[in-house]
Amino acid sequence: MDPRKNYYEILGVPENASTEEIRKAFRRLAKKHHPDVNPGDRTAEARFKEVNEAHEVLRDRKKREEYDGIRKGAFSGGFRGGPFGAGDAGPAGFSPGGARAEAFDLGDLFGNLFGGEGAGFHPRGRGSDIHVELPVDFLDMVRGGIREIRFHRPRTCAQCGGTGRTGRRGCPACFGRGVTETEDRVKIKIPAGARDGATIRVPSKGEERPASGESGDLVVELRMLSHPYFRREGNDILLDAPIRFSEAVKGARIQVPTIDGPVTVTVPPGSASGRKLRLKGKGVRTPGTVDRGDQYVILHVAVPKDRSEEFLSLVERIAAYEDPDLRGQWN
Ligand SMILES: [Zn+2]
Repeated sequence: MDPRKNYYEILGVPENASTEEIRKAFRRLAKKHHPDVNPGDRTAEARFKEVNEAHEVLRDRKKREEYDGIRKGAFSGGFRGGPFGAGDAGPAGFSPGGARAEAFDLGDLFGNLFGGEGAGFHPRGRGSDIHVELPVDFLDMVRGGIREIRFHRPRTCAQCGGTGRTGRRGCPACFGRGVTETEDRVKIKIPAGARDGATIRVPSKGEERPASGESGDLVVELRMLSHPYFRREGNDILLDAPIRFSEAVKGARIQVPTIDGPVTVTVPPGSASGRKLRLKGKGVRTPGTVDRGDQYVILHVAVPKDRSEEFLSLVERIAAYEDPDLRGQWN
């Protein structure tokens, strides 16, 4: 507590502000100036500390009364800023219990801010799980592989050992939270055939808890990225294949890509658009087994864009061979 500072001004509230007004102002400003939102911004960091300090005093009825009293006395009695060392704790000091209560409130705030699960910071409980989404290329998902991921991980503050205090002061390294955000990295194995939305749990790589030392888990959710031409339905692969009009009529051997590389398939004569050709066992592996789905090649007959007289007269001749009762089933 530093009575030379105007905590009301810092929070932008009137001197008769209610606890609720103070809480709201604090939450708004803490979000705005939080170091995670303003990485590397020293001014924001200083503001964040100031806002925390102001809130720490004004949220507590006893501390607020004390602070108001000192300021009143100081200004009427010719206060010069002498008796209080910079950043020194007020005469009442702080109990470890107070520090924990404060950490709880901040944890609550950060839980809401960053969407972490389990609102509330419980120093003695198990750490929360950390959820991250990992975008994975279509083929990496199909074939599996090892990926290293980096993620933000709250860990016990090394400066204060998680108490949030250094001596009688709030810990400057963690702003009294007892935890600091660090970047961690971990290698995970994506199983061949993993599905979109599948989760991989990495034990003890979640949030660290200062008092219990029991970390939560890291939960990685796989997000399959789309492929330029393959689609996936469960363990089957779908591929749209354009074929020429002549190929559709006469049949053809065409080369198509599969996840194992190109293969040649036979288009039967007289194939219409929408016909599906099945490539057995060319689909995605069921994780943990040797079973594979199929690939389906879906034919799309292309229509020539040519509008020349010669071409149109050819089409006219072809029309004589077409089914005059093509839509007869509706009559
Ligand atoms: Zn600390």
